Amino acid sequence: MIQKEFVIHRADINNHCPNCFSARGMVFSFIQRQKENSWIILTSRNIQEQLFCQHCHQEVYPGTWNDAIERVYLYQKKCFTAKPAGLKLKKKAIKVLGLTFLTLASVLGFWVMIQNGFL
Ligand SMILES: [Zn+2]
Repeated sequence: MIQKEFVIHRADINNHCPNCFSARGMVFSFIQRQKENSWIILTSRNIQEQLFCQHCHQEVYPGTWNDAIERVYLYQKKCFTAKPAGLKLKKKAIKVLGLTFLTLASVLGFWVMIQNGFL
């Protein structure tokens, strides 16, 4: 099963980095994961949030965020809509399920006709 990550929202923010105190280069990323094989696509409900400083090349973890970063984080969380979570069937799976359903329906139809004396 292939696992993919999508950056569903990315925002450059102007807050100071708690590690290097630079006011430039802070980036919020909101990442959603998908698992995929030849039959299905499974989209995760969880969204991974990441704050990265491009000046000191370090991730800034939520424990070190100040109030200003928290406010920007809450605002940025409202700026996107995630992909709907759940299971999506691919064409191949839909075809196989459709053929299975048709086969079962015709077997059931024949069985009912034989039971009622139509054949
Ligand atoms: Zn930094």
